[in-house]
Amino acid sequence: MSIPLQQNGITYKIVDKRHVKVQRIGALKINGLEQIPENAELANARLIKRHGDYYIQITAFLPKEEHEQLPYYIGIDFGIKNQLTLSNGVRINFKVPLVDEKIKKLQRLLKRKKVGSKRYRETQLKLQKEYEHLSNIRKDIANKVGSYLVTNFALVSFQDDNIRLWERLWGEIVGATALGNVKTFLNDHGAQEIDPFYPSTQECSQCHKRTKMPLSQRVYVCPYCGNVIDRDLNSAIDNAEEGLTVRRSLGLNKPLMPADDRTSTSMVEYFNNIPFVDASLVNETGRAQF
Ligand SMILES: [Zn+2]
Repeated sequence: MSIPLQQNGITYKIVDKRHVKVQRIGALKINGLEQIPENAELANARLIKRHGDYYIQITAFLPKEEHEQLPYYIGIDFGIKNQLTLSNGVRINFKVPLVDEKIKKLQRLLKRKKVGSKRYRETQLKLQKEYEHLSNIRKDIANKVGSYLVTNFALVSFQDDNIRLWERLWGEIVGATALGNVKTFLNDHGAQEIDPFYPSTQECSQCHKRTKMPLSQRVYVCPYCGNVIDRDLNSAIDNAEEGLTVRRSLGLNKPLMPADDRTSTSMVEYFNNIPFVDASLVNETGRAQF
């Protein structure tokens, strides 16, 4: 169930950091208002009732000049071992559990209730809420990752590594990372998707010759030019370059620079401030082991 709140300031109004006043209902205590940037312009909102809880969904716009994109292009390599490796050497991992302690406790509790009883339904509702809570955290992280990239970089390129196939193979792990949500976000916000058959894992990011590497080999070693580089980083750089090539073939010739160290420090800092997210710099060669 949801009620549209069309006009900010009339049908609804943010009173302070914890409260929203809704016309004819009054002031509601709200969590998460701090997510709205101070300079955001608020549009319409919706009051939503779900699993016995109320949510307010607010559409906000940021003034355009506030997020000037850097003249950099960046590429992403999606993976299972490392969720995101970026061509500027940043690695982002995030795992929100599918089932946490609270859910386990509620599941045990549910087993002891009589099916269909009032207590059973109450526990079931709490369980649904907790699942939804974790799922919202995952979606939120996916959106933050996607939005950081499209907001800060003039060109973001990624390859469809067939996340759906992985999900079938790896179910839980991929589900817990919401990689699909990241990709959906990127697709919806103008990122460049590149040909799924482009062999980014085989191509040397330095000399562009191709060598097959078994998946178990985490370090790419080029027999032609001697390039030794973390496997995922190699792919991310290839994807970045390929995305730029695609853009140029479309006649978009805006001069851009490859994302490098200048973009990585602040990125690591930003992502490490988000719960469940771990960001680091890739050790260039990942230490080759033979
Ligand atoms: Zn090479």
